Amino acid sequence: MKKLYCKKCGHKINSKFLFVPNRCVCGANLNEWEEDTGRSSLRYLLCLLLLMLPLFLIVYLLRNALRNSILFFAFILVISMIWLRLADGLFVRLGIVKMKNIFIK
Ligand SMILES: [Zn+2]
Repeated sequence: MKKLYCKKCGHKINSKFLFVPNRCVCGANLNEWEEDTGRSSLRYLLCLLLLMLPLFLIVYLLRNALRNSILFFAFILVISMIWLRLADGLFVRLGIVKMKNIFIK
C-alpha cells in the first residue's frame, strides 16, 4: 500500500488502517479536496457506488429487521459512516481522488 505524505512539510501521514486524519502534525488541513478530482467527480461517485453496493445489499436483506429496530437502524447508520470514511482513505491511496495537501509515494 502506498504511503501518504503532507505536501506542506513532507511529513509522513500516520493513518490508522485506511483512515486519513483531518490534520497533519504541522497543522495543514488534510481533508480539502482538489476541485476537479474531488468528491464531485463522476469517477469518485462510480467507485463509491461500487463500494457501497454490499452495504445496500445488507440493508435490503435486513429491511424487516431495520423496520422493527431503531437500534439496529442506528447501527447500520454508524457502519455506513465508517464505511464511507474508509472508502475515502482507499480512494486517496489509489489516486482516484486527490487531496490538496497530500501526495502519494
Ligand atoms: Zn504537514
